[in-house]
Amino acid sequence: MVSRYGLGFDRAKPGAAIDGVCDEAPMTFRRIAVEEAFVTPEIVDEWRRVLGGPDAEIGFRRMGDSILAETPANASLHRRLLDLGTGRIAHMDAVGIDMQILSLTAPGVQTLPSAKAVELASASNDQLAAAILAYPTRFAGLGAIFPLECAAAAAEIHRIKGLGLHGVIVNSHTADEYLDLPKFAPIWEALAACGLPLYLHPREPSPSMIKPYLDYGLYFAGWGFAAETGLHAMRIIMSGLLDSFPDLRIVLGHLGEGIPFWLDRIDNRYLLQVRIGAVKELPRLPSAYFREHFVVTTAGMTSLPPLHLCLEMLGKDRILFAGDYPYEDDVEGVTFLDHAPISDTVRQAIYQDNACRVFGLAA
Ligand code: MN
Repeated sequence: MVSRYGLGFDRAKPGAAIDGVCDEAPMTFRRIAVEEAFVTPEIVDEWRRVLGGPDAEIGFRRMGDSILAETPANASLHRRLLDLGTGRIAHMDAVGIDMQILSLTAPGVQTLPSAKAVELASASNDQLAAAILAYPTRFAGLGAIFPLECAAAAAEIHRIKGLGLHGVIVNSHTADEYLDLPKFAPIWEALAACGLPLYLHPREPSPSMIKPYLDYGLYFAGWGFAAETGLHAMRIIMSGLLDSFPDLRIVLGHLGEGIPFWLDRIDNRYLLQVRIGAVKELPRLPSAYFREHFVVTTAGMTSLPPLHLCLEMLGKDRILFAGDYPYEDDVEGVTFLDHAPISDTVRQAIYQDNACRVFGLAA
């Protein structure tokens, strides 16, 4: 059994097996990890309440234990999520992560009743801002919102900007609703007005779609998260809303949730659908929106072929490093990227430069 958090990861993977690329040369850039999770005790308590009631979303109910149960197997995960202090910093030092961009872990407040969700999103943003104040060179953060309360969410985005946070995180759908719906316009307007990127983070497929995912565990991170989040990103692109927000940036984890792989076919079949009148024609191709508005992160991806695919499809300036701590083994993520057979210019872009540009961090 390979240790979940130790150094005993599978060195036989492609990429990780290629040694010596930058072992000798000292790094002259920072490793910035951009999808790093935390949770607050208050939100854990509310999740417990929701999971104990009859209305919990079924995927969340099945996943709840992985975050909530303080069993010996989960104690480490639970403790790591709650730690915004010395333990997390010590881990970062051990792994060689210079900065974590922190965000409230999925599904965040998006499974809670509205009033409680709005309250706890704000409270978690305050706690995050306080942690960053304590470790300003090691932490930055993305603020949480509750999308269904649009006006409150828009106001919270302005407050997030005021707190000095560097973006906003949304965990895909909220109660079956997606951000392309016209009612969510105030959220996009607030993001654009504040110049903040949106991190569209995964969660399980929405209640209207989850049934066929429940067998074989397919609702989870191996497939359902990417299917759900990729769908959400495609809805945003195909709605045309990005035409109104030329400077808006959206971040997708997991090397783009599958979209870079499909990009040419997405264009090709879109053009066919336009020809037969099945979809409305957009000013630009779907791939043009993706290449201009989206960046992707390496969260959870430590295999060379998909990294190469993203470099070819998107270029070095659209890929950011993420460790997905504490869910993934960030030792594996760092070892993979340190040793990937790419130039140090590309490595620096992925580890540091793109994060500074996209999130507006000091270089
Ligand atoms: Mn994550």
